[in-house]
Amino acid sequence: MDDELTITAILRRAEQFSPDREVVSREPDRSLHRTTWSAIGGRVRRLASALLGLGLRPGARVATLCTSHRRHLELYFAAPIAGLVLHPLNPRLRVEDLAYVAGHAADEVLVLDEAFLPIYEQLRETTSFRHVVVIGAATGEAISYEALVERGRADWVPPDLPERSTALIGFTSGTTGRPKGVEFTHRAVALHTLSSSLHGWLAVRDTDVLLPVVPMYHALAWGWPYTAALLGAGLVLPGPFLDPASLLELFDSERVTLTGGVPTIWTGVLHALDAEPKRYDLTPLRAILSGGSTAPPSMIAGYAERHGLNLVHTWGMSELMMGAIAELSAELQQADPEQQQRHREMQGRPMPFVEIRAGGEDGFVAWDGESLGELEVRGPWVAREYLAEPDASARQWTDDGWFRTGDIVTITPGGYLGIADRAKDLIKSGGEWISTPALESALAAHPAVAEAAVVGVTDERWGERPLAVIAFHPGTSATPDELREFLLPRVARWWLPERIEIVAAVPKTAVGKFDKVALRRTFTSRGADS
Ligand code: AMP
Repeated sequence: MDDELTITAILRRAEQFSPDREVVSREPDRSLHRTTWSAIGGRVRRLASALLGLGLRPGARVATLCTSHRRHLELYFAAPIAGLVLHPLNPRLRVEDLAYVAGHAADEVLVLDEAFLPIYEQLRETTSFRHVVVIGAATGEAISYEALVERGRADWVPPDLPERSTALIGFTSGTTGRPKGVEFTHRAVALHTLSSSLHGWLAVRDTDVLLPVVPMYHALAWGWPYTAALLGAGLVLPGPFLDPASLLELFDSERVTLTGGVPTIWTGVLHALDAEPKRYDLTPLRAILSGGSTAPPSMIAGYAERHGLNLVHTWGMSELMMGAIAELSAELQQADPEQQQRHREMQGRPMPFVEIRAGGEDGFVAWDGESLGELEVRGPWVAREYLAEPDASARQWTDDGWFRTGDIVTITPGGYLGIADRAKDLIKSGGEWISTPALESALAAHPAVAEAAVVGVTDERWGERPLAVIAFHPGTSATPDELREFLLPRVARWWLPERIEIVAAVPKTAVGKFDKVALRRTFTSRGADS
């Protein structure tokens, strides 16, 4: 019982018990590369020993600038089992933010996809990596990834590592202020993997085939690369191709059973399915997990009613990977359909070992499904502080070690979380709260609406009023008055947005969520509907 919980043990499990399970990876030329957990294990050992051969000290940080593919997967194992720390960088961040996070994490090595060399050209002026490794053709001082793997030793034996040593670093996407870094230990990853793969709809078996659409640089792909390895499941990595047609092709050809990503991806996929309902065979797909922002009820219903597919809410954060997954408890499975539907629209119950509470104005709020409070969490994989940010850490963690999430929630007596809003996005109009996700969901139910984002704008009379920014599906439209008419029976009258702006596409953050900071900046200076 004194064995350490490490990523090394996760990889060993995949190699020993599921050596022939397939890992499929979409290459830059769109072809599919097929390999196995056993072959990956061999390459990981070579790569790990080659990384150490670069002269890195234990704990040195290895950054990646890569989409989701087999070599990124090798790095997910090789760096941590060598006693190094993997830091996946989000290529969609602004170059200044990338330079900041690489500097803040003290990254020594950068491994990048050839396609991201133009980003590196901009980065190199303000960063100083000791080694640059290119997946593809390397020029100048850069090393080619395959040459590096070649240098490594297949008979290298991973060192025994303490479970509380750092394995990974992730950064928040920085929608407010600078991105902030968090460290995850081997133990945190091992326990997150175990707990998430047991819980709710995820409940992974070795017959499953997982396709994480959530990129390996966002919330560590919710830990799915490790989940697949620990449970010996198949894994499909989509490379840079995240458009609906490419994803649907993979679900069909690879007989994917579980997939997960942000709602903006699932909106596009639903639209593609609606256009050609018979084109793809998705029979094996037992759940589509959706997290990162609220999945509109109309989308959950659209998948279920028109395509017989389960769209399941998960709640997570960069600070903890996955935290809650929606499932119907034994009790709810006996409940009436309306009550079941209401629970499917919530964010679910926390995974085993995650504890929750919600802080209100007078202490912690009751678990009555109505009282609103700020969600606080703790658990063995919830980060304990931000990297080198003592002030932000002191604000975000309570004295007794709970992490303040900034999410305003209700909690039902059964422990189901309902996210009403982010604290900073909640609109207070005439002294009453308006939930932006609820208003967005109501707008998203209109058949012409592809995307609906709502932000609060200052108003002399009411303090704040909602402003809606709408993008339509190609070839469809509606006037602002028609949209308000549609909303009327669905929300309180005083929630109706006076201003509705029509755009070609709602701007998104680096992780694919609506960029509310940009929306406020763009629209707060203008007047009427456009
Ligand atoms: P990030 O660190 O970028 O993954 O953002 C974390 C935040 O995303 C959370 O604090 C929530 O506000 C939001 N979020 C995550 N999952 C959900 C969900 N299922 N529904 C609504 N909001 C979510």
